[in-house]
Amino acid sequence: MQRIYSSSLQKINQISQKCWKSTSTRVELTQVRYPKLKRGNYSVISDKHISTFEKIIPGRVLTSATDDLESFNTDWLRTARGNSSVVLKPKSTEEVSEILKFCNQERLAVCPQGGNTGLVAGSVPVFDEVILNLSLMRKIESIDTASGVIVCEAGCILEELDNVLREKDLMMPLDLGAKGSCQIGGNVSTNAGGLRLLRYGSMHANTLGLIAVKADGTVVDALNCLKKDNTGYALHHLFVGSEGTLGVVTKVAIQCPRVPQAVSLMFLGLSDFASVMETTQRAKGFLGEILSSCELMDLECADAVVQNMKLKLPLERMPFYMLLETSGSNAAHDEEKLNAFLEAVMNQGLVMDGTVITEPSRLKAVWHLRECIAEALLRDGYVYKYDVTLPAQKFYDLVPFFNDKLKEAGALRCCAFGHLGDGNVHFNVTSTEFSYKLLGLIEPSIYEWTSKHRGSISAEHGIGLKKRDFLKFSKTAEAIEMMRDIKQVMDPNGILNPYKVLPAI
Ligand code: FAD
Repeated sequence: MQRIYSSSLQKINQISQKCWKSTSTRVELTQVRYPKLKRGNYSVISDKHISTFEKIIPGRVLTSATDDLESFNTDWLRTARGNSSVVLKPKSTEEVSEILKFCNQERLAVCPQGGNTGLVAGSVPVFDEVILNLSLMRKIESIDTASGVIVCEAGCILEELDNVLREKDLMMPLDLGAKGSCQIGGNVSTNAGGLRLLRYGSMHANTLGLIAVKADGTVVDALNCLKKDNTGYALHHLFVGSEGTLGVVTKVAIQCPRVPQAVSLMFLGLSDFASVMETTQRAKGFLGEILSSCELMDLECADAVVQNMKLKLPLERMPFYMLLETSGSNAAHDEEKLNAFLEAVMNQGLVMDGTVITEPSRLKAVWHLRECIAEALLRDGYVYKYDVTLPAQKFYDLVPFFNDKLKEAGALRCCAFGHLGDGNVHFNVTSTEFSYKLLGLIEPSIYEWTSKHRGSISAEHGIGLKKRDFLKFSKTAEAIEMMRDIKQVMDPNGILNPYKVLPAI
């Protein structure tokens, strides 16, 4: 057993900044891949509709006659492709309101779209829905440094908000691998979790208020900026996590924590999952209030990063790796706690090898190893992606449960990574190309298994199109009925993101 942990990470390769170019093969149309899906009774886009849109947002209407709409129609995972012929790019709440009012009158279905990094096929049309893309709504309205509240438009990119806030000693309360593309409106609408939910909480906790436009164009101004406000129903929570089915979020008020004075990251190698569990408990005990992230990746995920992204790990190959981050206000105090923790887990033989990183650029590089797993797996060809919450002791059980039968059926990898601290595991299976056989072996079995162990079938990615027919594994019939009632009140014509979230009737 090695007991090496240095104060800075020396061995990591320079991170490739090159963006991955998606393969040129077109993704199969969603309506072809899922033939049971039936188009709703919506109008079909006509020249009359296009000319009205042109009047509302002149020069910001993209159509398939003149523009390439492929990237708007295809999801990040390249597993779903819609067939929309029009993309609208509003610049204000008023424009969104006018567009929706018109679409509602004309019975045109609409798919709200942020950065299109969603992983459940919620952000792209299923058939020919109008794509309402928020990317031009990127104004920051205010940053209140005293109370730590940012008010901005929905299309602001998460990473850009974080960069602006850091100049004022504040930061965004969430961080995820897609931060360079995802938008705050998308984060709110999916109730995104990410790498530091353990410390800073969910978007439900951090969204103080918002402005949303209902399907009929009504603007609901619930832009509260106060941390305490008990004036009746908390309307903004209706839109948080509703995935564009109840309204279009146009502006948000987010509470932002102070940038911590001292950040350290440990990259640890472990030999078995029992040691991972015990180390997690130790971390919670020793590091308590300074623990800001507790992540896991298994060897198959690490191999994907090495093979497909050409990156180097800071440690030798080991069955499991953990990333533990601390964020505190006093570097000396934190170091004392870290040393006590590392001594304990290494003396006990729980951790085989590890390294501690404090230098900012190296922190970034090591975090990148974890953040690029999704992309690394995608480069295998096709990814079956599952995002579930499980009780701690069951966290890794999905891999042994599925591994052998899926590999026999042609799977390349069957692996897991995720947010250990929150019980949120990302179970991934890859193959060179989509296979109905593999899909049939995984679904609905994975949801039945998760439900049997009292887990949630969606921890943070949402329901979208992919999971809507499995909602019953996490919600009672009465709860689903109540969701339908709310949808009926908010969007009686069902124009907003149809085929998503609610199960087919
Ligand atoms: P989109 O993908 O465009 O849309 C997502 C959903 O929200 C759709 O249903 C869409 O209709 C709706 N929507 C978008 N904007 C609005 C709006 N303004 N008003 C109403 N509805 C809207 N997710 C996590 O939770 N945690 C992670 O750690 C995480 N890591 C990821 C890593 C990678 C590499 C990738 C590609 C994705 C990851 N995701 C993660 C998933 C995704 O990034 C999040 O769900 C994100 O919040 C989506 O934001 P977006 O702007 O891309 O929204």
